[in-house]
This record gives sequence, C-alpha cells and structure tokens, in this order.
Amino acid sequence: MKKLALHWKIIIGMILGIIFGFIMNSVDGGKGFVSDWIAPFGKIFINLLKLIAVPLILASLIKGISDLKDISKIRSMGLRTIGIYIGTTVIAIIIGLSIVNIIKPGEGMPKETIEKINTTYQGNADAMISKAKVTQDAGPLQALVDIFPSNIFQSFAKPAMLQVIFFSLLFGICLLLIPEEKAKPMVKFFDSLNEAIMKMVDLIMLFAPYAVFALMANVIIAFDDTTILVKLLGYAACVVFGLFLMICFYMLLIKLITKKSPFWFLKRFSPAQLLAFSTSSSAATLPVTMERVEEHLGVDKEVSGFVLPVGATLNMDGTSLYQGIAAVFIMQVIWPEGLTFTNQLVIVGTALLASIGSAAVPSAGMVMLVIVLEAIGFPPELLPIGLALIFAVDRPLDMCRTVVNVTGDATVSMIVAKS
Ligand code: ASP
Repeated sequence: MKKLALHWKIIIGMILGIIFGFIMNSVDGGKGFVSDWIAPFGKIFINLLKLIAVPLILASLIKGISDLKDISKIRSMGLRTIGIYIGTTVIAIIIGLSIVNIIKPGEGMPKETIEKINTTYQGNADAMISKAKVTQDAGPLQALVDIFPSNIFQSFAKPAMLQVIFFSLLFGICLLLIPEEKAKPMVKFFDSLNEAIMKMVDLIMLFAPYAVFALMANVIIAFDDTTILVKLLGYAACVVFGLFLMICFYMLLIKLITKKSPFWFLKRFSPAQLLAFSTSSSAATLPVTMERVEEHLGVDKEVSGFVLPVGATLNMDGTSLYQGIAAVFIMQVIWPEGLTFTNQLVIVGTALLASIGSAAVPSAGMVMLVIVLEAIGFPPELLPIGLALIFAVDRPLDMCRTVVNVTGDATVSMIVAKS
C-alpha cells in the first residue's frame, strides 16, 4: 500500500471495514469482537484529531491575523464569509425542499411499517427530544453570550470552538495593535506552533486508513434491521440526491469563481471528505480540512484559519438540506395537513438557524430537527413517531451530510481567498 495516494488507502480501508463489518455481523460473537477489539482504534484516531483542533485554530488564526497587517481587512473578510455561508445554506434548504416536494417519498407508507418503525426506535427518538430540550430552554441571546468566554482555559478544555475563535481573533488583532518588535516573538511562536501541529496532522493521517477500517466496521455492526432500511430507501435517496446536487453546486462555484478545475479540488481535498464520511463529525475532521485547504489547495492561513473553524461550527449546508427534507418527509407520512406553503417558508428560516446551532458531531442535525418541527407547530404527541421514522437511516445520512458540510467550508474558504 506504500505508493498509493492517501485517498486510495483510505478508500481501501473503508471498503475492507465495510466487508469485515458484514462478516462479523453474521458470525456469533462478531459484534462483540468488533466493539471490544476493533472500534477502540477508531476512537483513538478521533481523539488524536480532536487533540490538535484547539492548538491548530489558535496558532493558525493568530498567525494569520497578525500577517494581515490591516484590521479593516478582518472585518470585510468576516462579513463576506458569514454572508456566503448564509447564502449557500439557504440554497441547500431550497434544493432539499424542492426535491422532497417533487418526489414525495413519504406518501403512501403503510400503517404497519410506521408502527413497526415506531416500536423499534421509540427509545432513540425520546433521547433526541430530551437533548433538544436543553437548547430550547436557553434564552434567545444565549448563543451570542456563549461566544464570549470568561475563562479561556475552560474554552480550551470543553472545547468551545467559537470561544477559541473569538479569543484567537482578539489576540491576533492586539498583536497588530502593539509595536511590531514587541509582537514579533509571539508571532514567531505561533508560526512555529502552527508548523508543528500541521506536521502532527500528517503523522496522524498515516494512521487514517486503519482507523477508517475500524470506524466503518463499527458502523456496519450497528445495523440490524435491514428490512426497515429498505422501506426508507426513497427518503434516503432524496437526501443523497440533494447532497450530490450541493457538491455539484460547489464545484460550479470553484470553476466559475476561483477558475480552478473541480477535479483538481476533489483530488486534493478528498482525504478530508473521506474522513468526514467515516467520522460523521466536521469538528473531528477540522484539522485535516485545514491541512488540506492550506497545504494542498493553497489558501492563505489568514483566510483558512478564520473561515474553516467558523464554518465547521456554523456552516452546515448538508445538515440544513437534510433537515428540510426530513421535516417534510415526516409531515408527508404522519401529518399531511401541516404541509402548507407557510410552514415550508418557516422551515427555510428555522433549518438555517438549526444548522447554525447544530454541534459539529454525529447526529447533531437530528437533535436540532426537533426545533425545526416544533417551529411549524408539529403536534407534540406525534414528535417521537416522526423522529423514530427517520432514525434507522440517520447514521449513513449523517456520514453523507458531513461530507457536504466540510466541502462547503473548503469551497467558501477558496472563494474568500480569491476575493
Ligand atoms: N454530523 C454533522 C457534522 O458534524 C452534523 C449533523 O448533521 O448531524 O457536520
């Protein structure tokens, strides 16, 4: 496997992991073997990636900002980034809503199927609803308050990415405001920290093909009732098709705005996409996203250091597209009277906010779907059934939407760098 490019090694690891997972699913004690002896290697890999996320954001953003020399550039880059993020997210939701309204995957689902799904996944649905309650109980400005840390070491420890970004921005700006000779040692320090962390990403990625083997095998042993998966194929296909259109949309932007070839982009960025797929977490993928964008796509640190961590936390086009499709699908199955034009408009607004509020971790998009459904007055007694309905296919869809989430961030960083 030595001479193969990294993305091929990861793909081979994934395929072998899937095959191994299916074999273990069919032998006695196979599931236990995978969860005791194989899955921990996937966990170790994710831990290593999370380990370097905070120092990487800190070093890359502080170094990047202090290189900018001009504070007004930071404001215009910030505004442009947020504007493009909101624009692409709204486009994603509109694509999702159009597909689900045209294909109508939820119409005509037999009652027995709904009952079977409900009894199988009721417990999981209840867990999602109680997680969403925590967010709902917070005041309207809590999300804003949460950006400003009172103790930066707590922010590092959590880690609270937006707080780390805020601190790094402030620190970088202050380095610009003090005399250059005083700032120099700090800038040098963060520059060399950044280099060392980037090297760590390279080293950790050597382990990626084996880690994705473990991650995929662990995903496969979680599927037991494939008959339910088949019933949800129409819905899953709509989400996957929508996500595919989003990738095409990004490639169009890459071609038109940055004048680069989409194949060039995909070839260089694919290791990050494959990791997003295997980990279902944009946060865990962030160090690799940053390394790929800076070192392989040639985006300057001052742009990638800001655009990518902010994007990993706030910009989730795949998640918002999925939330639009899932909300309408659930209505088509169990609450068709709710399918009004006004409700769909409300979905555009709330899916935008819900994707911004979703944590960059597995299943976060489904938790926030509760908020989207409640915003349109979805009957509370039907809510557990609605969530149970889509639970069986959530993990594979999560893997796919995370790929779109990280691709969106990388695309926007290239556009911002170009402008
Ligand atoms: N897993 C997604 C991410 O990390 C979020 C979600 O849609 O659940 O980007």
